[in-house]
Amino acid sequence: MKLLEDRIRKDGIVREGEVLKVDSFINHQMDVELFREMAREWKRLFAGKPINKVMTIEASGIGIAAIVAAEFGVPVVFAKKSMSVNLDKDNYETRIQSFTHKKIYEVIVSKKFLTPDDHLLIVDDFLANGCALMGLLELAQEAGATVEGIGIAIEKGFQTGGALIREKGIQLESLAIIESMNSATGEITFRSQPHQS
Ligand code: 5GP
Repeated sequence: MKLLEDRIRKDGIVREGEVLKVDSFINHQMDVELFREMAREWKRLFAGKPINKVMTIEASGIGIAAIVAAEFGVPVVFAKKSMSVNLDKDNYETRIQSFTHKKIYEVIVSKKFLTPDDHLLIVDDFLANGCALMGLLELAQEAGATVEGIGIAIEKGFQTGGALIREKGIQLESLAIIESMNSATGEITFRSQPHQS
């Protein structure tokens, strides 16, 4: 999506350790009008899918997912992170390794809010090695919910997550896929995606 790529070029900061900072429009301050355009693009890309719920993980996915849910006219549920083992039988649980914080989190979602009737669009801000998405897919599978697709704002295409997800045959629409980025020069190159706007 050209709008997002242009914004990343303008305001994204490439850090060492293969981290892109997008604090000024996604991860700290949020550009809600940009999120609206992204949501419209996902609505177009997932047209015809019987999506009845958006799912994400706290914290940074929530802002985008809320706007996407409004565009689709459905609720949004977010998986909650906790550092303690939670043996509550009313929750589905899994463990996720965090890319940015290098910790392992217990992640839970209440059985009340994820059921076999759910047809999910999973949304998140970044896709790196795919740990967050794998955890969300596991929670969906535990619940017997159907994953109709995955919408990611920024995929780092040089990391392994995108290939892992696409191998599963799930429709993954990342609105910007970074092929390479250089922390010394700040240069960023994107993968061409002719089917996107
Ligand atoms: P993964 O689980 O795919 O390895 O990493 C995805 C999660 O880590 C995302 O939910 C995102 O919050 C965070 N993340 C991964 N890479 C980056 C990055 O380059 N920049 C930022 N801001 N967050 C990232």
